[in-house]
Amino acid sequence: MLNFDLHCHSNVSDGTLSPTDLAARAKANGVDVWAMTDHDEVGGIAEARAAARALGLPYVPGVEISITWANQTVHIVGLQIDETNSVLLDGLASIRGGREKRAREMSAQLETVGIHGAFEGALKFVGNPDLISRTHFARYLLELGVCKDLPEVFSKYLGEGNAGFVPHRWATLTDAVHWIRSAGGTAVIAHPGRYKFDDTAFDALFHEFRDVGGTAIEVTTGSHTVDQYEQYAKVANKYGFLASRGSDFHGPGESRVDLGALPPLPKGVKPVWHDWTL
Ligand code: AMP
Ligand code: MN
Ligand code: MN
Ligand code: MN
Repeated sequence: MLNFDLHCHSNVSDGTLSPTDLAARAKANGVDVWAMTDHDEVGGIAEARAAARALGLPYVPGVEISITWANQTVHIVGLQIDETNSVLLDGLASIRGGREKRAREMSAQLETVGIHGAFEGALKFVGNPDLISRTHFARYLLELGVCKDLPEVFSKYLGEGNAGFVPHRWATLTDAVHWIRSAGGTAVIAHPGRYKFDDTAFDALFHEFRDVGGTAIEVTTGSHTVDQYEQYAKVANKYGFLASRGSDFHGPGESRVDLGALPPLPKGVKPVWHDWTL
C-alpha cells in the first residue's frame, strides 16, 4: 500500500520547516504521495509543488481551513484544490484578516498573568505575518521556560478557558466547504477526535458537513490515538465518508508523529484517494 501523508504544515503557517525542507523530509521518510495543508493559506503551494517535482514525489495541493461550528473551532482540510481559484483565495484572505488583532489581545491577556512581550515574542517565530497563530505564542512560552511542552502550554495558557485564550470567529462550515469545492477540491473534516462535542453534536456536524458537500474525514492522523483510528473508521463507514490519512506534522522535535510515520488506514474504509489519478 502506498504511503499517503495528506496533512502537514510549513513555516508559511505554523510549521517550522520551509515547503522545500518538508518535501525533502517527506521523501526521505518514505512518503509516496504528499499534501501540505497550511492553515488558511495557500502561499506555500508553488514552492512545495516545485520541490516535490524535483524529488519525483507525487504532490497534492491542500489547505486546512479554520471554521467555527457550535462555538468551537473545527478544521476542514481541502485536498486536490486549485490554489489559484478566486473564490478560495478571497475566502482564505477574509479569515486571515482577524489574526493580528486577536494576537494583540492574546498578548494583553497574557500580560495579566505575568507573561510579558508575548506579541513580539511570538512574532520571532512567525514565517508569514498574516498567519500569527497560537503555535507561535506557544513556542515563545517554551522559550521563556514557563512550560515543558506544547500540550502543557495549551492546557495552561492558550486553550479555551485559559488567560491567553481569545475567542475568535472563523469561517462557517458552509463557506469553507463551498470554497474548497469551488476550487475543485475534496473537503475533509480534520482530526474529528480532537473536538469536544457530545454524540448529538457530532451527529449534527457529520450530517451538516455531508449536506453541504463534504465527503471525507481524517481517520488515521497524528492527532488521534490508536483507538480513535478504529473509532473514526466506523464513523466514516456509518456516514458514508471517505477516509483520509495525515501526520499533521509541524516540526522536528515538536510533533508526536513524523511525516510518513503513521500506520495504514484501518481495513474496510474507502480511502479519499480511491479515485485519484496521480
Ligand atoms: P490558531 O489557529 O492560532 O488557533 O492555532 C491553532 C494551532 O495550535 C493548531 O493548528 C495546532 O498547531 C496548535 N495546537 C492547538 N492545540 C494544541 C495542543 N493541545 N498541543 C499542541 N498544539 C496545539
Ligand atoms: Mn497548526
Ligand atoms: Mn488542525
Ligand atoms: Mn493541521
